[in-house]
Amino acid sequence: MSVGHDDVVTWLRTFAAEVETNKEYLTQLDAAIGDADHGININRGMSAVIAKVDAEAGEQDDGALLKTAGMTLVSTVGGAGGPLYGRLFLRMGTAFTGKAELSPGDWAAALEAGVAGVQDRGKAEPGDKTMIDALVPARDALKEALGGGATFADALRQSAAAAEQGMKDTIPLVARKGRASYLGERSAGHQDPGATSSHMLIEAAAETWGNSG
Ligand code: ADP
Ligand code: MG
Repeated sequence: MSVGHDDVVTWLRTFAAEVETNKEYLTQLDAAIGDADHGININRGMSAVIAKVDAEAGEQDDGALLKTAGMTLVSTVGGAGGPLYGRLFLRMGTAFTGKAELSPGDWAAALEAGVAGVQDRGKAEPGDKTMIDALVPARDALKEALGGGATFADALRQSAAAAEQGMKDTIPLVARKGRASYLGERSAGHQDPGATSSHMLIEAAAETWGNSG
């Protein structure tokens, strides 16, 4: 099976819609351990991405599409979250260069490249209470499932389940990166907003592509 260009666009739209629906929730999570803008930031960025996608419909391969998404996030969202998501999408775009159809292995490679990009920029490791705590388990579960011969649909579901667990596992953690780290021990007991939006991104891929085979 493979994921077509329209399926990649649908994934971005699904993530944007999920962020829009949950922007208050994401902002509340950020109010507890940050500056109450994560939902606003990511929603603003993804709205701009979708406006670009609409304006340039049908003109781009998957690489160019994701690079456009990444550059749009970098240029429309301030703070830490926007540039980090921008880097994620830019690196995925590089991995997708020239492709109009993605295999499961292409998606695994893109997720790996994207996560590496976030880590190059933000220097967060698993356990630091950031988006990395959802993305690294999602990457690893996907790779393991595909390596074990799972269907793409099952691998995507396992990846999303691992992201969800990683997101929940941020609750007891003390933040070591980003604004939440200024709170020290007081950051414990709250779910990380970036891990929450990253779970939405991975969940959106499972929802969108999970029926394609
Ligand atoms: P800001 O912290 O500048 O207000 P946002 O509120 O949009 O930006 O995003 C906050 C989220 O960014 C955090 O919940 C965390 O997941 C993520 N984050 C912050 N710093 C880092 C980092 N160095 N590496 C990875 N993710 C980070
Ligand atoms: Mg914030």
